[in-house]
Amino acid sequence: MSSEISEELLAISRELREQLRFYREVGVEDIGGSAFTVESAPGADSTAPASPSLIAAAPVADAQMRSEAQVEQVGLFGDIILPGQTGSRSRSTSMPALEFNDSSLDAIREDIGDCRRCKLCEHRRTIVFGEGNPHARLVFVGEGPGAEEDATGRPFVGRAGQLLDKIIEAIGLKREEVYIANIVKCRPPGNRVPERDEVETCEPFLFRQLACIRPQVIVALGSPAFQCLLRTREPITRARGAWREWNGIKVMPTFHPAFLLRSPDKKREVWEDMKKVRDYLHNQELKTEK
Ligand code: URA
Repeated sequence: MSSEISEELLAISRELREQLRFYREVGVEDIGGSAFTVESAPGADSTAPASPSLIAAAPVADAQMRSEAQVEQVGLFGDIILPGQTGSRSRSTSMPALEFNDSSLDAIREDIGDCRRCKLCEHRRTIVFGEGNPHARLVFVGEGPGAEEDATGRPFVGRAGQLLDKIIEAIGLKREEVYIANIVKCRPPGNRVPERDEVETCEPFLFRQLACIRPQVIVALGSPAFQCLLRTREPITRARGAWREWNGIKVMPTFHPAFLLRSPDKKREVWEDMKKVRDYLHNQELKTEK
């Protein structure tokens, strides 16, 4: 066997081993062929182009009437649009310019203060600013705090957070090495999708955080995060896995971990996306070593 072929076989077996390790870590039990395509998967993302999740929220009363359990099944953190969520986006579709020049994340947190800029302040217990390495090469952006995040003041500490931790570890990083933030910093009541005015009020703080950290890669978790960063109505089902850019920073859109909890067969796609992130970061590291 030529050395080229044996090297290739070695690389394939390494790749397979990594893939199996990832599946084990994130709890995939069946790796048989999937019956669904991404677009047709039930519940994958009903964010039809005409229903941008960021801007069209279900009426608060409606969301409040749902039990937490129901909300978690159908629409928690944005991969699924609830009935009645329609609307049109009229705000600027241009990318937010990086005009911020904060010297530290602390300065941004200080500026937020005991925020009462939007109605989310009425029900929140804690402002969940974000946490992690202020010099992170990789930042994850989610949608908004849930109950446990609201209680602890830390992002992604509930079930979705535990899965996010595994995803981070699967690409060879520790949670403390990355930074984790959300598009809104206060918990929407009943975990409903943040409303347009709430996102518009809060997103400048996220943008300032990103501008201050200047990571090499941003992973947008779910439609709302992706649509907020990229100023698009494109659903995550269509966008995931392909590199985008936010003010010169690479963006990888992928499914939200809360969605993966409901649709574990989608973990495979997330692994594909995360491998691209891992390889990109690795290549960047090699470049800086040269
Ligand atoms: N989901 C999010 O989008 N953010 C969190 O902080 C927790 C769950």
